[in-house]
Amino acid sequence: MAEHNLAYNTESLQQQDNQHYLHPFSDHKSLREQGARMIVKADGVYIWDSDGNKILDGMAGLWCTNIGYGQKSLANVAFEQMNELPYYNSFFQCAHPPAVELAKEIAELAPPHMNQVFFTGSGSESNDTVLRMVRHYWNLKGKPEKFTIIGRHNGYHGSTVAGASLGGMKPMHQQGGLPIPGIHHIPQPYWFGEGGDLSPEEFGIQAAQELEKAIQDIGEDKVAAFIAEPIQGAGGVVIPPDTYWPEIKKILAKHDILLIVDEVICGFGRTGEWFGSQYFGLEPDFMPIAKGLTSGYIPMGGVIVSDRVAGVFEQEGGEFYHGYTYSGHPVAAAVARENIRLIKEKGLVEYVKNDIGPYLQQAWKTLGDHPLVGETRGLGLLAALEVVQEKEGRVRFDSDLDVGGMCRNTSVSNGLVMRAVGDTLIISPPMIISRDEVDELITKARKTLDLTMESLK
Ligand code: PLP
Repeated sequence: MAEHNLAYNTESLQQQDNQHYLHPFSDHKSLREQGARMIVKADGVYIWDSDGNKILDGMAGLWCTNIGYGQKSLANVAFEQMNELPYYNSFFQCAHPPAVELAKEIAELAPPHMNQVFFTGSGSESNDTVLRMVRHYWNLKGKPEKFTIIGRHNGYHGSTVAGASLGGMKPMHQQGGLPIPGIHHIPQPYWFGEGGDLSPEEFGIQAAQELEKAIQDIGEDKVAAFIAEPIQGAGGVVIPPDTYWPEIKKILAKHDILLIVDEVICGFGRTGEWFGSQYFGLEPDFMPIAKGLTSGYIPMGGVIVSDRVAGVFEQEGGEFYHGYTYSGHPVAAAVARENIRLIKEKGLVEYVKNDIGPYLQQAWKTLGDHPLVGETRGLGLLAALEVVQEKEGRVRFDSDLDVGGMCRNTSVSNGLVMRAVGDTLIISPPMIISRDEVDELITKARKTLDLTMESLK
């Protein structure tokens, strides 16, 4: 792979950035002091910065470039669609072929009882849509008092007002005066951090029982839905113990409550199935999607809806007062279709399930022998490791040291993007990653841990 020409002036870009560009999820003071890393090009699993550094993108952008960078056919279909029909909406009884065909193709991939898709521009918009749909559904069923949605501490469902409210990120709530009314959070199934002396299996049951308790406290007649990611991504790749989802399923089966499974990260192959719901054997009423839908090449999201919910919308009628200018955008829909076609053609879901997923997991596990690592875990192409001061007793470093942040910065300087959630390091590489590239990732991750240990001495 050719190194790119240094046609960029990093300092001048940083200066302009500082003067005009307010970044998302950033501390603007320290960003202005340090300057942003300018990413100028990408190909395969690699990105390049404006100083010519080639970096393995262990996070697939923001968990989204499932197909990897540099897939020219996605650019070509966007070009063709812009020339044919660059924009039209689906309001007021209109539609266009790209959105119609995409909806059909998504329905074919989804669990059999889910056959309708509502399109949005992002994962956050998808979760705003879910909140509106859940309440619309119960209104149509004549049960408007079924209003409360139960989410989980540390869950992430986006950054819009409803998305951030459904999520359980405390700092987001504190800044935004959130959550909005009618949202309740229960503890997360995070054994390493919160499992205490229980075995993972015991803890899984206990964490699931929190849902039963919340339903009892609030009253089944007031609870509309439960929302969760199959695996909590932004919360630190929290993979529930094996006992968790089966117990949640039992609880939901007892009560008349809708299930929302947020597939924004797990969707489109990351677990080795098309959707995380299929991996865990779940039967959701709603699956918010985004990210892997277009592999991040263009913004698009959606909500896949079960027949029981869509059926009520159809039977009862009455306008659903909700939608976005860019719902089902034809160019985004064309790109999504090509992305899905490529994932199928390359057999990437099977590749994650049978080949590169197991290969990555086996290699990732070897990092567990490092003195700084308290636990490794992973599934498909998602993985995490817990950085600890002492393995015995799962003892963390003082949070003021920000050891996770140190690791992340060291890793990027050494040519690997990993993300830190507190002292949890996480990866979610593109699904086209090869075995050699996995080996490179693991070597760089180990080097990161070694260098961090050195600097802690
Ligand atoms: N839901 C989940 C599970 C996510 O991980 C994210 C983003 O990381 C979102 C929703 C929000 O998606 P977006 O950033 O596209 O609004």
